[in-house]
Amino acid sequence: MPESAPLLDVSGLSKSFRVPRSASGSTRLQALDGVNLRLGRGETLGLVGESGCGKSTLARVLLMLERPDSGTVRFDGVDPFSLRGKELLAWRRRVQMVFQDPFASLNPRLNAADLIGEPWRTHRDLVPPKRREQRVRELLDMVGLRPGDARRYPQEFSGGQRQRIGIARALALDPAVIICDEPVSALDLSVQAQVLNLLTDLQAELGVAYVFISHDLSVVRHVADRVSVMYLGRVVETGPTEEVFGSPRHPYTAALLSAAPTLAPALAGSRERIVLSGEVPSPVDPPSGCRFRTRCWRAEDVCAQVVPVDEAGAGQPSHTAACHLPLEVVTAGIAR
Ligand code: SF4
Repeated sequence: MPESAPLLDVSGLSKSFRVPRSASGSTRLQALDGVNLRLGRGETLGLVGESGCGKSTLARVLLMLERPDSGTVRFDGVDPFSLRGKELLAWRRRVQMVFQDPFASLNPRLNAADLIGEPWRTHRDLVPPKRREQRVRELLDMVGLRPGDARRYPQEFSGGQRQRIGIARALALDPAVIICDEPVSALDLSVQAQVLNLLTDLQAELGVAYVFISHDLSVVRHVADRVSVMYLGRVVETGPTEEVFGSPRHPYTAALLSAAPTLAPALAGSRERIVLSGEVPSPVDPPSGCRFRTRCWRAEDVCAQVVPVDEAGAGQPSHTAACHLPLEVVTAGIAR
C-alpha cells in the first residue's frame, strides 16, 4: 500500500437496521460493527466473506446510499456525509460502482451511447455536449468495444460486453474509486479473465482505485493488492494479499483458504481441510466477544468475554487480525 495518506479511510463504522421480530415488535440487525478500512490511491482492496457478512452494506455506506450509525468515513481527508450542494455532487462523481449483474444493471431501452453518457445528465459540466459523442467513442475504445457499438442496445451484447459497458459508464465520470460488487460472478470463466484483465489495465492507465467485493478467493488473489476478510459485520483480517493468502492469521481466513489449497500453498501441508461446524449466527443476535467463536476450533473462555481488536503480526506490520489466539506464520500446515 502506498505510504501517503489513504484515499479512503474508514474507522469504527457501524450500521444497523430495524427488522421485524414478531407481529408486534421489531429488533435491530447489526450489519456492520466497528469496521476499519483503508484504500490507497490506485490500489485494489479485495473484500471477501460469506453472504451476509456485511460487504454489500459497507459498499452502500461508501456510496453514501446508507448513513452509518457511528464511525467515520474520510475521502481525501473529507467526511462526505458533511457535504452539501455542489461539493456533494462533485464527491459523488469520484466514487462509482460496477454492478454484479450486467444483464439487470443496464436499462434495455437505452443504447450504449446513452447508457455511458447518462451520468452527464446530472454532472453536466464534466463533458460539454459537443464533446460527448467523441468521449463515448473514447470510452468504448478504452473498454475494448468498437465505435459502432454506440448505437446498439444491451440485449444485442454478450454478458462480457455488457459488463464492459457498465465499466465505461462508471469511468464516464472520471472516478477516483470504483466499487466493484462481484463484477465477474455472473460471467463465464473465460470471459471473467478478460474482464479482470481489463480492470487491471484500466487501473494501470488511469490510476483508479478499486474496492473489489467478491466471494471468490481466486478472483481476489488475481486482482487485489490487499485483502480484508469480513465475518458477521466485522473485518477480522487485513493485509497484503500475498501475506493473507500465504499465512492467514485469523482462523476464519484459514478455514476459507483451506477449502482452496491451490490458492494457499503454505496450507497445503495440512492433512485435513478445516470444515467449520454450524451456521453463521444471526446478525440480529450475534455471539458475545469474538463473533466467530461459535464456529472456531481454537476458542477459549476469553473469546466469549472480550471483543478482539486488530493486532499486527510479528514482522508483518500491515497484516492485522482481530483474534486473541492468532495463527502463527504458517510454514507447514495450519497451527491448531
Ligand atoms: Fe477463534 Fe478466539 Fe480467535 Fe475468535 S478470538 S477467532 S474464537 S481464537
